[in-house]
Amino acid sequence: MVLVYSDNKNLMLELLNKGNELAKELNKSLTAVIIGKDEFSKDYIAHGADKVVVAETDIDQFKAEEYTDIIEGIVKEDGSEIILIGSNKNGKELAPRLAAKFETGCVTDCTNVYLRDKKLTAERIVYSGNAVAVEQFNTTPQIVTVPSKVFDPLPKDDKHKGEVVKKKIDVEKSSSKILKVQEMKTEEANVEDAEIIVSCGRGFKDKNDIKMISDLAEALKGRTVGCSRPIAADLKWLSEDHWIGLSGHKVKPKLYIAAGISGQIQHIAGMRDSGVIVAINKDPEALIFKSADYGIVGDLYEILPKLTDAIKTKMG
Ligand SMILES: Cc1cc2nc3c(=O)[nH]c(=O)nc-3n(C[C@H](O)[C@H](O)[C@H](O)COP(=O)(O)OP(=O)(O)OC[C@H]3O[C@@H](n4cnc5c(N)ncnc54)[C@H](O)[C@@H]3O)c2cc1C
Repeated sequence: MVLVYSDNKNLMLELLNKGNELAKELNKSLTAVIIGKDEFSKDYIAHGADKVVVAETDIDQFKAEEYTDIIEGIVKEDGSEIILIGSNKNGKELAPRLAAKFETGCVTDCTNVYLRDKKLTAERIVYSGNAVAVEQFNTTPQIVTVPSKVFDPLPKDDKHKGEVVKKKIDVEKSSSKILKVQEMKTEEANVEDAEIIVSCGRGFKDKNDIKMISDLAEALKGRTVGCSRPIAADLKWLSEDHWIGLSGHKVKPKLYIAAGISGQIQHIAGMRDSGVIVAINKDPEALIFKSADYGIVGDLYEILPKLTDAIKTKMG
C-alpha cells in the first residue's frame, strides 16, 4: 500500500499524483489520510486516491506527537509500505517521529521519488545544492517528505472511484502544551502560488531601484516580486517572503524573470521548474543563462524600463 498525508490540500493533491504512479507500478492501492473534518475526500478521490481514511478526533490543532500516533495506527492497519508526507512545517515534525516509531528510515525534502528494483528511491539536494544524493531504503515502511511544487497534481477525474472510511480515534493527549499560536505577518507576496514572478538580485545598486521590478511585475499583471538571498537576507531590501532558492521558497510560475541575478545553484534550486525563464544580466558568461529559455545581455537599468514600456503597450 501507498499512503499520503499532508495538512495542506494543494500539497496533498501533488503527493497523490506521485502516490498514484507508485501504487500503479507496484499494483497496490493508494490511501489518503485526513485528520479532523472531512472537507476534501471527494477531491482526493478525484485526484487519484483509492481510499480516504478520515481520522475523526477531538484534537483542534496540530500536535506532532498526537498526529504521529494517529498516522501510526492507520499505517499499521493499512499495511502501508510507502508513505509520502508533505514537507511543510508540520510534515517535517511528523515524518521523522513516524519513522522512529517504525524504526525505519526517513528521507526529507525529496526532489524526486521513484521505484528502482521495487524499492523506493529518493533524490535530494545536498552540499548546498552542489550535489544530488540518491538514497534507497533497507527497511519498511519507506517514509519520505516532499516539498510543494515538486510534482503537479493529476487532472481531476470525477469518474475515479474510491471509498471513504471514517474512524473515530481517541488519542492519548501528549504531555507537551501549545501555549500560544501567533500567525506570522506576511506581506502580500505569495511567491509559491504566483504564476508570474519578476526577481531581482545584487545587480541592483539601490533599494529604491527595486521599483523597476515591481513596475514590470505590475505591467505583466503578475505583481509578484521575488529576489535572491542577498536582497532579503543581507541587504534586507525585501522581506523573506520574496526570497527564492534552496533556503528560500521553491517556486514554479509559468514565467520567471531574473534581473541582476548571477544564477548560483542555490538560487536555481528554487526556480528551475518554472515554465519559461528569462534572464537579464550584463555578464554574457553569467550562470543564469544556462538555465534560461531567453537571455538578454545588457544593463538592467537600460533594459527594464524599455521592457516594461513595451509590455504595457502590448498589453494595452
Ligand atoms: C547554504 C546556502 C544556501 C543558499 N541559499 C540561497 C537561496 O535560497 N537563494 C539564493 O538566491 N541564494 C542562496 N544562496 C546564495 C547563493 O550562493 C548566491 O550567493 C546568491 O544567489 C547570489 O545572489 P545574486 O545573484 O543576487 O548576486 P551576485 O552573485 O552578486 O550576482 C549579481 C549579478 O548581477 C549582475 N549585474 C550586476 N550589475 C548589473 C546590471 N547593471 N545589469 C545587469 N546585470 C547586472 C552581475 O553580472 C551578476 O551576475 C545560498 C548559499 C548557501 C551557501
